Amino acid sequence: MSLSLWLDPLPPPRPALEGDLQVDVVIIGGGLCGCSAAWHLASAGISVALLESRQIAMSASGRNAGFILQGTAERYDRAVAIMGPEKARAVHAWSLENHRLMAEVIAQERLDCGYMRRGSLQLADSVEEEASLVASSDLLQRDGFEVQLLKAEQLPSVFAGAGYRLGVHLPADGELDPARFVRGLADRAEQKGAKIYEQSPVIELDAASPGEVQLRTAKGSVQAAIVLICTNARAGELLPSLASIVDPVRGQMIGTAPLPPLFPMPVYANHGYDYWRQDEKGRIALGGWRNLDPGTEVGHDEILHPDIQERMEKFLRRFAPDLQITHRWSGIMGFSRDSLPVVGPARGAPGALVAAGFTGHGFGFAFLAGKALADIVCDGRHPFADQMDPRRFS
Ligand SMILES: Cc1cc2nc3c(=O)[nH]c(=O)nc-3n(C[C@H](O)[C@H](O)[C@H](O)COP(=O)(O)OP(=O)(O)OC[C@H]3O[C@@H](n4cnc5c(N)ncnc54)[C@H](O)[C@@H]3O)c2cc1C
Repeated sequence: MSLSLWLDPLPPPRPALEGDLQVDVVIIGGGLCGCSAAWHLASAGISVALLESRQIAMSASGRNAGFILQGTAERYDRAVAIMGPEKARAVHAWSLENHRLMAEVIAQERLDCGYMRRGSLQLADSVEEEASLVASSDLLQRDGFEVQLLKAEQLPSVFAGAGYRLGVHLPADGELDPARFVRGLADRAEQKGAKIYEQSPVIELDAASPGEVQLRTAKGSVQAAIVLICTNARAGELLPSLASIVDPVRGQMIGTAPLPPLFPMPVYANHGYDYWRQDEKGRIALGGWRNLDPGTEVGHDEILHPDIQERMEKFLRRFAPDLQITHRWSGIMGFSRDSLPVVGPARGAPGALVAAGFTGHGFGFAFLAGKALADIVCDGRHPFADQMDPRRFS
């Protein structure tokens, strides 16, 4: 297992759960979603414990590129074609709300996480993709979202020089160091009273009766009124009804030593398969090329794919031939059957709520999903969960 640019070095782990614990709400999974739920619940004064099998943000939430993008993994023209105009617009608006809430908590809690709002740039790799970008841009504009279509002469020179001829600039998008953000959120939740245990995989869960949830780890147990399952790609392990709905899919990444400014904002090309950005320290994080071997890039192992790694490095050296690669890693995403998040009451487990299946765009939805679960606990419902209800899958 290799560490990402953001996880290296790992802090000393919090202690594992030992003994028996009783709380109102127990959360399983210490990624962005679980830590958001913990922060929202602790902020509301609810007694809450979070159990994480590894360390906070050590799975997808600390292994991604740190893009905060609007929308789903599908370009907006495709999203409209698949979901219909009304739903596509609503889902897109939710991702902007997610970003607004993240920016608010970063300011409110003074989280030092390299957050920047420079927008993002979608680039076309082919004539066919150029047509899709134009269609996306037109539809985004029609639906009232901020967007700018850039012709070759309007593109930043680094991209025009590399042969790109068309781009879509989305000024509302942002970026951050994902591990610093999620760790910061966990620290603040803890300061507000949340109990956080690391190195504590949940190995048994009984959520058959609301009000009487029980779970077990190697050295401890928890009794709670309700459990929030925020285990992303592993959701099906504790909730069999999700096993055929959320699939583990691997993504490869590389990270470099600091370089002079080269890329002015996060970029995604090739229909979103390939993405890269330069962080506030000048380091480049680049990922993608999964479409070269989609059949192999599945499962839970955080292993490197040598051919994809080589292709990514070759691509990046076109822009900076002498760059130094300091990190190579992979991470596991949870892809849902319809590419939309799965958020709300879990089928077959009346004592559980779940949030998973962010399909490669968790930083576009998972903070909001954690809040939605917390709001269901406190107020009985949240409109985002109404639209992302896991029970939509029969
Ligand atoms: C290479 C890569 C690049 C990406 N790039 C981006 C990007 O730029 N922008 C974006 O929006 N999204 C991106 N994503 C997706 C994003 O990282 C995820 O959607 C998001 O982090 C999901 O958050 P989460 O909290 O649901 O899941 P996770 O971060 O996976 O957290 C789930 C946690 O549950 C824990 N867990 C699992 N089982 C148990 C158990 N039995 N007991 C206790 N704990 C358990 C895991 O250890 C894990 O820490 C990327 C993902 C990858 C892999």
